[in-house]
Amino acid sequence: MSAAAPLLPGARQGGAPLTLGVLGGGQLGRMFVHAAQAMGYDTAVLDPDADSPAGRVSHHHICSDYQDPQGLAQLAALCGAVTTEFENVPAAALSSLAAQCRVAPGAAAVAIAQDRMAEKAHFVRCGVPCAPFVGIASAADLQAVPAEVLPGILKTARMGYDGKGQVRVAERAQLAAAWAQLQQQPCVLEKLLPLALECSVLLARGADGQMVHFPVQRNLHRDGILAVTEVYAGNVPPALAEQAVAAAQAVAQGLGYVGVLCVEFFVLQDGSLVVNEIAPRPHNSGHYSLDACDQSQFDLQVRTLAGLPLVAPRQHSASVMLNLLGDLWGPAMDRTPAWDAVLALPGAHLHLYGKRQARTGRKMGHLTLTAPDLQSVRATALQAAQILGIAAF
Ligand code: ADP
Ligand code: MG
Repeated sequence: MSAAAPLLPGARQGGAPLTLGVLGGGQLGRMFVHAAQAMGYDTAVLDPDADSPAGRVSHHHICSDYQDPQGLAQLAALCGAVTTEFENVPAAALSSLAAQCRVAPGAAAVAIAQDRMAEKAHFVRCGVPCAPFVGIASAADLQAVPAEVLPGILKTARMGYDGKGQVRVAERAQLAAAWAQLQQQPCVLEKLLPLALECSVLLARGADGQMVHFPVQRNLHRDGILAVTEVYAGNVPPALAEQAVAAAQAVAQGLGYVGVLCVEFFVLQDGSLVVNEIAPRPHNSGHYSLDACDQSQFDLQVRTLAGLPLVAPRQHSASVMLNLLGDLWGPAMDRTPAWDAVLALPGAHLHLYGKRQARTGRKMGHLTLTAPDLQSVRATALQAAQILGIAAF
């Protein structure tokens, strides 16, 4: 997307209100829709689910497959610009849309984020260190696995999320069974690294190349799923935070990226920083920005999409975000968590995504705690975790 005239909020296009579109109707799409509507845009969501969380709150919902040319044409006709809320939107759908309307991020960047091999090749190109890895596309590749990537994690090259599509491999003898478990799909085998902590950087990049970023988020994953994000001064040593921001900027720059990008990192026990993966969209680890910053990651997504000015976001409160997984709804998924007790805590912000059915491990919502300082925010977050039955952190 080249720098074009901004799509001003509340303007009209072809006699209709200016409309921003999103491919995907999950919670990220829903929060994008909320941000766009708050700024005065109409919104359109394309998602095959007639009852999707974002489709339900949008002005327009196009209920079609992501690759259906008619659905895409309808979206392009309605919208001044279109973005995506998940990286598994076929890159071809983005390219075909791009021929019809403004699209960000671009298909080429999304295609790289969709494929762990292409993603790692990009990290190498940018000179940002990642875990030692090898591509697995055949039995011969399995035979030739070098010792330096073991013990490792075998990950499907495509379509993995929340730790799905991953198998840990302790030794060479387990490789064949692990690959069979993943239906012998093309995979990446990467070395299992000794992690000290995990963190992520969210940035927004405009079509003119200008970048702004949020403070570095410190993330705790459980069973491959993000559980807790903590953001306050000192959550990550300052030198590492600086390094992570610079690495994220290099990755975005190298992609010629336009939009909101998340870069996930590992900090190893020896203090070194290693990039893990990227998400070409707002990210779960940035949800705290809705309540703890003067602009959220979704506000910046709207701005990058519409070509509006980017101003560095300012965090005004220390924050801890707890993910609310379906598990909290009880073994039969029929309980309602004690929101009244949680909302009695100072600085508690509840976000539920409107998913009709809870399931184990399913992201149903998140809770952000905000406070003036890290001691009080950690104390209230631990209280909230205890009320909800989330393990302490
Ligand atoms: P997903 O796409 O499911 O988020 P990730 O590659 O980010 O997949 O892996 C999920 C989590 O698994 C990471 O956040 C981290 O906790 C753990 N993990 C992934 N790769 C490694 C690795 N090479 N070494 C150690 N832990 C890892
Ligand atoms: Mg991840």
